[in-house]
Amino acid sequence: MAFELPRTLSPSKVSSFTDCALAFRFSAIDRLPEPPTVAATRGTLVHAALEGLHTLDPPDRTPEAALACLDAAAAALVDDPEYVALGLDDEAATAFRAEAAQLVQNYFRIEDPTTVRAIGLELKVEAEIDGIRLRGIIDRLELDADGELVVTDYKTGAAPSTMHERKRLSGVHIYSLLCEQLLGRRPRTVQLLYLKQPLAITTTPTDRSTRGTRRTLGAVWQAVERACEREDFRPQPSRLCDWCAFQAYCPSFGGDPAEARRLAEQLAADRAAEHAPAEAAPAERAPGDLVAVQA
Ligand code: SF4
Repeated sequence: MAFELPRTLSPSKVSSFTDCALAFRFSAIDRLPEPPTVAATRGTLVHAALEGLHTLDPPDRTPEAALACLDAAAAALVDDPEYVALGLDDEAATAFRAEAAQLVQNYFRIEDPTTVRAIGLELKVEAEIDGIRLRGIIDRLELDADGELVVTDYKTGAAPSTMHERKRLSGVHIYSLLCEQLLGRRPRTVQLLYLKQPLAITTTPTDRSTRGTRRTLGAVWQAVERACEREDFRPQPSRLCDWCAFQAYCPSFGGDPAEARRLAEQLAADRAAEHAPAEAAPAERAPGDLVAVQA
């Protein structure tokens, strides 16, 4: 096999591969660094604020408390290399903070957090299903009023058109599959909370949707294997190219993917030299992580 297969698939990798196989290669296989963006870093900050909010006792989950959680998360972010690399001046930093605060306030227009019974926040999940190792981070796993599982994913970008709703929901369907595998129960509900609009997109996983998710994952994994074997990851230009960090290596923009390969090999050699002793040690897992392997 010419290209090494990625060790795992995640909802974001599945979406990356179906959007553009070449961008997937640069990110998941070549592991080229991607510079942080304001949108992604703001998303990280808002997720941290909402995580903090849901660690509070239900009656304390007020908008004021949420903004205090945002302040705490923002203070912790100031020295983060991802935030520092954005190089925001005072005015841009104020706008960054104000936009994050608006998203947090919008959250209260979608649901009443005092009614949420979270049983997992930013929960790392990993399992092998149909021979594919899947992993991801569930923003929030909770129990509804009947004690049934609900998977919630916060989104800080724009909500999709009705036509693209199903595709966006495919990520939470993968989380539903992981929950079923790890906990032995299929969630009753999976939902995307779009904080910008604000808007909730909710659906109920069924036997049919679960079969469809497994089929899609199998097809994507086979396509990845084929592409690795044949060294054939094709560019798929779309409006997503405007945000792609790999234009310099993309033939659609006059770049040469072979240069990305050379850089990838150099980076892999650097990583191996830097982390050799750590990699020999067994992988550490946080106590809250859910990990399983299908028998
Ligand atoms: S610039 Fe566009 S076509 Fe090229 S790798 Fe990025 S997303 Fe794909």
